[in-house]
Amino acid sequence: MTVPKVRLYVEHPLAAGQSCPLTRKHIHYLFDVMRFGQGGELLVFNGNDGEFLAFAERTGRQSGTLSVERQTCPLQQPPDLWLLFAPIKSSRTDFIVEKAAEMGASRILPVRTRFTNSERIRHDRLQRRVIEAIEQCGGTFVPEVCPLQRLDTALRAWPSDRRLMFCDEALCGAPGTLESGREGKWAILIGPEGGFSDCERERLAEMQFVERVSLGPRILRADTAAVAAMAIWQKALGDW
Ligand code: SAH
Repeated sequence: MTVPKVRLYVEHPLAAGQSCPLTRKHIHYLFDVMRFGQGGELLVFNGNDGEFLAFAERTGRQSGTLSVERQTCPLQQPPDLWLLFAPIKSSRTDFIVEKAAEMGASRILPVRTRFTNSERIRHDRLQRRVIEAIEQCGGTFVPEVCPLQRLDTALRAWPSDRRLMFCDEALCGAPGTLESGREGKWAILIGPEGGFSDCERERLAEMQFVERVSLGPRILRADTAAVAAMAIWQKALGDW
């Protein structure tokens, strides 16, 4: 059997034998952009119920339904890994969020640090980027993008059973990186272009759940650092 070329996220409960309405955007995409005929096959997922094979029917210019045939994949949770990062320029922030979703983050938390120059994020746009990344990479779980919060606030409310891989540019070139063997709940922290302040570094160093980590002998840009850190974590403790 050939695998359908289109994979869509829908905001609707999914189960074999059910049908669900198509949004205008999906109708336009499927029938106008992708040139679907009546009954065209696609894969759908909603972040909760796994992935399903479905058939699309257009019932009017701006209306249509999906007939959900059967489950093709159960929900697959990524490892319990959060990514905390300081937002940078919007195209690079988009990149970080997209890569975090592809690399298997379970939650994405933008944080404002001392040297973060971006005061705002476009939350809806970032969540949309995550959904597009999951549509493309074959995932069935959709990580949540949290609202922007201060790093201090996140640390104050930090769950004691979650370790934090603090990627500290001050350790650049120092030997040693993340060790394997301590699976469980984790988060990665990546700083902004300006790096962390001394005060932030001191505060983080005192915290029990923090693991300071080097990402090698070169200073990486924040977006590169996010991808590198996730790769290291996934290899040592995740599902790679
Ligand atoms: N302007 C800073 C660098 C910031 S790089 C300076 O010149 O020192 C942005 C973020 O990427 C850092 O805050 C850190 O979280 C991460 N990072 C980049 N290179 C790193 C390295 N070699 N080791 C650990 N973290 C690194």
